[in-house]
Formats: sequence, C-alpha cells, structure tokens
Amino acid sequence: MTPEKLISIDRDHLIHPVSSWRDQEEAGPRILHSGHGAWLKDINGKELLDGFSGLWCVNVGYGCKSVVEAATEQMARLPYATGYFGFASEPAITLAGRLAARAPGNLNRIFFSQGGSDAVDSALRFIRFYQHARGTPERRHVIGLARGYHGSTYTGAGLTALAAFHRDADVPLSWQHHIPSPYAYRHPGDNSDAAVTAASVAALKAKVAELGADKVAAFFCEPVQGSGGVIVPPAGWMKAMRETCRELGILFVADEVITGFGRTGPLFACERENVVPDMMTVAKGLTSGYAPMGAVFMSEDIYTTIRDNTPPGVAVGHGMTYSAHPVSAAIGLAVLDLYEQGLLANGVKAGEHLAHRLHALGNHALVGDVRISGMLAGIELVTDKMTKHKPDAKLKIASKLSSIGYEKGVLFRAFGDDIIGLAPPLCCTIEEVDLLCDRLTDVLDTVRDDAEVRAALKG
Ligand code: PLP
Repeated sequence: MTPEKLISIDRDHLIHPVSSWRDQEEAGPRILHSGHGAWLKDINGKELLDGFSGLWCVNVGYGCKSVVEAATEQMARLPYATGYFGFASEPAITLAGRLAARAPGNLNRIFFSQGGSDAVDSALRFIRFYQHARGTPERRHVIGLARGYHGSTYTGAGLTALAAFHRDADVPLSWQHHIPSPYAYRHPGDNSDAAVTAASVAALKAKVAELGADKVAAFFCEPVQGSGGVIVPPAGWMKAMRETCRELGILFVADEVITGFGRTGPLFACERENVVPDMMTVAKGLTSGYAPMGAVFMSEDIYTTIRDNTPPGVAVGHGMTYSAHPVSAAIGLAVLDLYEQGLLANGVKAGEHLAHRLHALGNHALVGDVRISGMLAGIELVTDKMTKHKPDAKLKIASKLSSIGYEKGVLFRAFGDDIIGLAPPLCCTIEEVDLLCDRLTDVLDTVRDDAEVRAALKG
C-alpha cells in the first residue's frame, strides 16, 4: 500500500493513544517501517536516531536476532498457554524464577500482566485483597505523587496526577490522593537535596494524618518520574520515603515501569539505594517492547497473607487471558540474557557519557535544568533563566521541537512546551550518544534562532 493510502486510512480509522485526536487527524501519522540497534527507518526511507527507545521501552535496541529467534521458536512450538486451571508454560515459569532471583529483597512472587497499566491496576487490587486478608479493610486510601504517571486504566489514571488523564474522566477516585513531587528545580525556597526530601517526608506524614493513620493502605512512586517530565528525586529520597512508609505502617510500592531493566543503571532503580519495596510494578524493558508484558512483584508476606486468608478451593479473582503469555515470556528470557551479558554495563557507560554531554547543554540560552539518571534524561526549557519562566504556549515550542527533530533525524519526547525527555536504547555506542547530543543541540539552536523565540528570550 502506498504511504498516501496508509495515511488516509489512519486519519479515518486509527485512534492514536494519548494524542490530540484533532491534531492527529490533521497532521496524519509518521509511519515507521523498520529498525536496527538505535536506528529507525520510516516508510520513506528516512533514518532516525531513536533517542527515546520507542516509548522508553526498546532498551535492547531494534532487530535483536536472539530475541526474534526466541519469539519465533516459542510461537511455532506453543503460541499460547493459559495460566488458568493450573496450566503454565515453560518460559513463564523460568522467567518468574529468574526475575525472583534478581528482584530486591523478598519480592519473590510474580504476577504477569500485559503491560504497565494493568500491572498498576493489578497491584491496586492485590493491595485491596491484602488489606481485607489482614483484617484492615478500612485501609482504603492510596497516595501518589503530583506529576506521577501510573497508566491509563481507571484506577491507574486516578493515581496518575497529570491533567490530560483526569479531564472528563471523573478521577482521581475517592480513595486516591497526591502529595507534591520531589521537583528540586521548582521547589520553593531551599531546594537542597535534604530540604526537598524533608518536604516529601513531611507531606506524606501530613497526608496520612489528614486521612487517618489507620485508613491508608499504600504510597506509590516512580523512582524517577517519567511522563511527569523526567523528575529525578534527590539521592536518598527513595530510601527516606521507604522508611517513612515503614514508620507509618503503609505499603511502599515502586512503579518501575520505566526505570526497571537498566534504564537508570542497575536492573531495578530501587537497587541504587538498597531499597526493598513491598511491591514493584514493571513492564516496558521486561520484553524491551518486542511483545506486550508487565509484572507485579510482591513480597512473600503479601502473597502468603492473601493465600492463607482465601478459603481452600476459592479463587483469588484476578487474572487475564494473556497473563504470563508464553511468547512474551520467551522474549523476556532472551532480553534478560542480553541485560546480563553486558547490556546493563554498556548502558552505564553510555549513560555516563550522556550525562557529560547533556550537562554541557546547561549553558544553552533555552536550557534551565538538566536532569539525568543513567540512560534517562530531562532537559527543562525556559525563556528566562533567572525567573525560570516557562516558554509561552504561543511559541509552540513542542511542535517546533518535534518537527525540527524529525527533519534532523533524531527522536526524543517533548512534554508540554517546556521539557524534553531522552531515553536512548542501552545498546547505544559512545559515537551514537555523541550524535544524539549533536543533533539535539542542533535542534535547540534552530528553535532558539526562531524569530519569535529569540524575541521572548531574556538574558
Ligand atoms: N507506570 C509508569 C511509571 C509508566 O511510565 C507507564 C507508561 O509509560 C505505565 C505505568 C503504564 O504502562 P503501559 O503504557 O505499558 O500500560
């Protein structure tokens, strides 16, 4: 089919996730055709350096032979096996065992979902089961962070704190609450690591006191906030929040859908501070985007409490047709091999170089803040570095960034008109990191030199 015909069908029929339906219909899609390593090719043959790993997921890069072979072999041998009625498949069992061995602390029990959103929704349901099982059903409330993202189910969208996900959706639900994000760049007053962490600890304690000390079930956070604008909390923040949850008697849940599988360096970001959550959600890098899969890791205590309080012969009523899908699990195993055979180490090396290159961008007229954790980075744009004034919407920075970036052959993500997100594949070479940063600088220079933007810049 010709590109023109595909574009026409897309405009008429395909609803794009989290998009302006109006703008999408008008602009039409950019159709991707193939990929290799950190590179994509569109349907017209244009080469693009993917600085965002698709949607922060293709950690191993495109076209990995061993992953494709594992999927092909499994699909030919047994494309589907249910986990219901006592059945299981070899790859699902093996993957659960290998992940449990690599998971922090006693997060030994693993439920496989189809992606991150239903991993979060599953975690929320398991927390509900757990509170009932331990005789504390009044612990209903769940607390998240402002600017948090936890997916697109009803419960996940409510736990999320981004306006687009709440608009006309009647969420947050009555039991969902938020405290401020550990956003040092825009933290009022003293924004030292210690002050930002102390503010989060105090906010969590105050929220629990407001809701009732025996009414709160859990606190959810991303170790680095992704869709909220790549907000990297201060070192020690996660540990402090974990300890506070322990003190308050509430569960600490780490949503590692983006940060898991080497994105910030170690396999799980929790390892950076030796934090052992009570539950952890993952997806994306679990299969590196080669097939849909997510997972909930739960502590032995949560698992056994639910198990032991469910009468014999009664089902714990949660699961999906595609839970623990064997092809996704086979892919997960092949991807885990790659992480263990050098990809994590390469990501650390590439991430150090990325940090070195991006910090140099701090001098750029449009750049107010650079945040980086491994191969995950946010660049915050301002038109006045002194006042930290965000670019006005009328400058249409996001749309300029996106079209100029595409033209110059580099993909990244623009959050609103003020934050650029980067999450390159962990397989990037140092030369590719350099090229990514060179192209990004070129994009920023072009945006800065736009007449309207230049007129808006102060200092
Ligand atoms: N949780 C976090 C932290 C995420 O970043 C995302 C997606 O970006 C999700 C949950 C939802 O995952 P999915 O898009 O696979 O449903």
